[in-house]
Amino acid sequence: MFWQKDIELMDKEQLRNTQLDCINKEIKIAKRSEFYKKKLSNIDKISSLDDVKNLPFTTKEDLRNSFPYGFLATDLQNVIRLHSSSGTTGNPTVVFHTAFDISNWANLSARCMYTAGARNNDIFQNTMGYGLFTGGIGFHYGAERLGMLTIPVGPGNSKRQIWFMQNFKTSVIHILPSYALRLFQTVEEMHVDVKRDLNLRIAFIGAEPHSEEMRKKIEELYNIKAFNSYGLSEISGPGVAFECECQSGLHIWEDYVYPEIIDKDTLEVLPDGCEGELVLTTLQREAMPLIRYRTRDLTKIISEPCACGRTHRRIARITARTDDMMIINGVNIFPIQIEKTIMSIPEAGRNYIIEIFENNFMDKLCIKLEIDNENFGGTLRDLEKLQNRLECELKQEIGVTPVIKFVDAGSLPVSDGKAKRVFDLRNKNK
Ligand SMILES: [Zn+2]
Repeated sequence: MFWQKDIELMDKEQLRNTQLDCINKEIKIAKRSEFYKKKLSNIDKISSLDDVKNLPFTTKEDLRNSFPYGFLATDLQNVIRLHSSSGTTGNPTVVFHTAFDISNWANLSARCMYTAGARNNDIFQNTMGYGLFTGGIGFHYGAERLGMLTIPVGPGNSKRQIWFMQNFKTSVIHILPSYALRLFQTVEEMHVDVKRDLNLRIAFIGAEPHSEEMRKKIEELYNIKAFNSYGLSEISGPGVAFECECQSGLHIWEDYVYPEIIDKDTLEVLPDGCEGELVLTTLQREAMPLIRYRTRDLTKIISEPCACGRTHRRIARITARTDDMMIINGVNIFPIQIEKTIMSIPEAGRNYIIEIFENNFMDKLCIKLEIDNENFGGTLRDLEKLQNRLECELKQEIGVTPVIKFVDAGSLPVSDGKAKRVFDLRNKNK
């Protein structure tokens, strides 16, 4: 079952030819912007996809340095919307859209949801933030395009979320993975039985890197299928890649972006199957094409055919953003490795934070975990056992022995948006 059969099943050669045409078109449009006029001054077109590797990269810093209009490649009168990063440090990144860009994005987002099994008789509840953040609005437009009854609840207010689910029989939900776990506390407090009282069957989870263990936990708790979504505001937002019913990697829509994987240190392009940084070139953007944009997301391209029949290659779930890497006493650690271990132990609870501090010139890693009351009714001795088990398994996974601290359920900080899990308390000024 396909949203756009001709595109989703397009044969490889035709897909590659289309990509080449689109890249050349994008180069032409991009050169109308101040940034690319300089950056691409020597390049008018490429003659094969092999030449893509010779095009210059574009980075987040480039976007910031060109604030506010340096990347705009069309007249302002054609632009109907902008999205922007929060910009907590320095200039924010700004992304512009024409009416065509917005419509195209809505279609892509609809394609993603359809691919995962959503249909026009579904009731869609969107718990993502609306506004400058693209997560909410991107799916909202897609859901309406698909024809679902769309409920734009937005983030937070867990009781109201469940009230909507119960009363309107929400069947499809879009939710941050961390929030899905927190929301379940409220489900329990309200004595809601997910099978009896709710009608949920599909969740779209994304916007935060998360482990397979976390997905399984969400599926079990709510008795649903949870599908990974990938996107980034610089490219448009959600919709760039999405899991199909096979749930084995995310189809990256190759009519919309041209993906490459590079070694983040040497910047060389890596063959399919090797893990590295994802680099994307937009293929259909009018207001703001991006050439070889370095996403900082780490993944690999899966080129083997997918059982669903779609010809667009897949990317593996995003294991981390290069920005997320923590260096503890010289060892590289990604937060997702810690999450994976925690989520694989049922008694270990669902909410956690990671603190890094210094003690006697050594880095210390402390993990604060909320105890899961339902799975843990044990004694102090059981608690010690759990602590030892976590320390051992984490040591195996990350190569560093952390300090485990248990805290009461509901006592860790929560936010409406993406969960902030890592708190680096080391003195950076020394
Ligand atoms: Zn597939």
